[in-house]
Amino acid sequence: MRIDLHTHSAVSDGTDTPTELVHAAAAAGLDVVAITDHDTTASWAAAARAASETNLTLIRGSEISTQLGPRSVHLLGYLFDPDEPLLAAELDLIRDNRVPRLQEMTRRLQEQGVLVTWDDVLEQAGSAESVGRPHLADALVARGFVASREVAFATLLGWQSPAYVAKYSPDTAAAIRLVRAAGGVPVIAHPWAGGRRGALDLAMIASLIDAGLAGLEVDHLDHDDRTRAELRGTADDLGLIVTGSSDYHGTGKQGYGLGVCTTSPQSYEALLAAAGPNGVDVVG
Ligand code: AMP
Ligand code: ZN
Ligand code: FE
Ligand code: FE
Repeated sequence: MRIDLHTHSAVSDGTDTPTELVHAAAAAGLDVVAITDHDTTASWAAAARAASETNLTLIRGSEISTQLGPRSVHLLGYLFDPDEPLLAAELDLIRDNRVPRLQEMTRRLQEQGVLVTWDDVLEQAGSAESVGRPHLADALVARGFVASREVAFATLLGWQSPAYVAKYSPDTAAAIRLVRAAGGVPVIAHPWAGGRRGALDLAMIASLIDAGLAGLEVDHLDHDDRTRAELRGTADDLGLIVTGSSDYHGTGKQGYGLGVCTTSPQSYEALLAAAGPNGVDVVG
């Protein structure tokens, strides 16, 4: 069984439609794929229709933007009820705030003489429900300011850049409780990505157990072997499910191909068992 539990479509900052993503996952030989667009469930219906036409099992999820003190923490929520009002309202709030935040980043770039417009960004975002820095990066590429999303993040859009504006995000523990209350399974995504080993230390991760944290994403391209070994130890110590994924973004992130990292069948079974009775089922 090949299981990839974290992917993005063009409903957020990936480049495949949800239908294309599901077909690409089947073609890549995956048995299970999770669609986890940032702060939205708008990809679920199309992905479910596509999955029901293949042999693939679809896990419906979202990668939720949260913060633990000053740290940005991405929280994968799986199998939650998308209509549970408190969680749905929080996702709306995060998503709605992404718009003025990205407009302010665009304005700051203009101030620096980087003449990219909000219309450029909207053109790149297309029908995305959840807009983000990758769409601004694509606008910068289209205008010829940078060669790729990667270069845009490294030069103009990273958190240390003058144009950077933080986005609204709820407290991690609060978001974990919302996912659980909606019947879902909360897993911290790439806890030590970007070479930030120990970014969330054992005590911080342990503090999320009471809120209902279920798992840690360990096998991810942004984690080197030593990081994975340490995180696996942390997960063992705390009784957390270990997951793995590609964090696929279509052509938006080079090298992060579907199935490049995967989740074990044992972890997958544990994840399914952790879902609440009010959550949604897998498709297929
Ligand atoms: P935002 O949510 O608007 O702050 O944008 C963050 C998103 O940008 C992340 O979810 C990544 O998918 C994407 N991202 C971050 N760094 C890079 C990079 N170096 N190259 C391409 N995409 C990136
Ligand atoms: Zn992304
Ligand atoms: Fe992430
Ligand atoms: Fe992601």
